[in-house]
Amino acid sequence: MRWSWKIGRIAGIDIYIHATFWLLILFIVFAYWMQGHSVATALGGVAFVVAIFGCIVLHEMGHALAARRYGIRTRDITLLPIGGLARLERMPEDPGHEFWVAIAGIMVNLMIAGAIWLILTGLGLPTSSRFVWVGGHFLNRLMTVNLWLAAFNLIPAFPMDGGRVLRALLATRLEYTQATQLAARVGQVIAFFFGLVGLFTGDFFLLFIALFVWMGAEQEAAMLQIQTSLGSIPVRRVMLTEFHTLSPDDPLGRAVDLILAGWQHDFPVMFGDRVLGLLTRDDLMKTLAQRGSEGRVRDAMRREFQVADSHDMLERALAILRDSGSRALPVLHDGRLVGMLTMDNVGEFLMIQSALRQAQLAENQRQMTQAKP
Ligand SMILES: [Zn+2]
Repeated sequence: MRWSWKIGRIAGIDIYIHATFWLLILFIVFAYWMQGHSVATALGGVAFVVAIFGCIVLHEMGHALAARRYGIRTRDITLLPIGGLARLERMPEDPGHEFWVAIAGIMVNLMIAGAIWLILTGLGLPTSSRFVWVGGHFLNRLMTVNLWLAAFNLIPAFPMDGGRVLRALLATRLEYTQATQLAARVGQVIAFFFGLVGLFTGDFFLLFIALFVWMGAEQEAAMLQIQTSLGSIPVRRVMLTEFHTLSPDDPLGRAVDLILAGWQHDFPVMFGDRVLGLLTRDDLMKTLAQRGSEGRVRDAMRREFQVADSHDMLERALAILRDSGSRALPVLHDGRLVGMLTMDNVGEFLMIQSALRQAQLAENQRQMTQAKP
């Protein structure tokens, strides 16, 4: 995610902090400063932020560890003011798995709140579930933050965990696409309700949440549409079939000529009819800087690279392409090179599909108006 900085690594997962998180920190430190006008109270505010921050990390680790149980790795975790975002390698396909991965985060916050409650009552301190930014016992405040995080995430709307819980529950009865559409619809009804209440009470926070939830629902539905449309298209319908290849003994100058003369950035390197490597533009530039144009393709090419099969579905091939870190994927069939797949390529395919759909819609409309008496 853009505007994020890496702050550490836990259990092999990179933790990032988003720029907007600093707004929350500023807000709390300011609120504390206003209360006491002393460095000590401001520092108390910082400690509170760090504790909230830890709870959000634990919430996201809950998702990540639940996902790991189902063999799904987590790419990274980003901390945002409204919570965190654990980017999973893929979404669980089994509704039961999705349910447990989504609910795990909420359960972490409830467990933290429960543990703090036990400590507070054990110490004989008063407990209150009223949420305050400033005042009261530090642990009590932290407990209410966790209850609040759990409640907020239980709202049955994307992108909150509750939205995923709802979809998982619906998906046990309905088809996955239908379940997502229904869950997105429910989310938008909730967003509309929040927006209405926010408008009448002048509560900007509710308005903000309403906007956030509305966009989340739109995004989830749109993403699914792309996914399902890509999920049913084989790579061979989209892949490039006209492209250049290189041999390992070619001088780098040949690759330079091809890059300047054509559109291609990445070249499969062939030994006979076997794909030996992949020469990417970045690798070419690096080796060119070291050895000049007399260097050989074999010195610059990657020997380890990902490939797709022409019978793979586009969705799967795109996931491979994203993970490969290069911009082109050699497409093989029965071990032979039959094409190349690039993001541009897929983008063009989607544009063409959408243009054809519009033409079809216009045609349908024309026929309907003609059919009218
Ligand atoms: Zn969560």
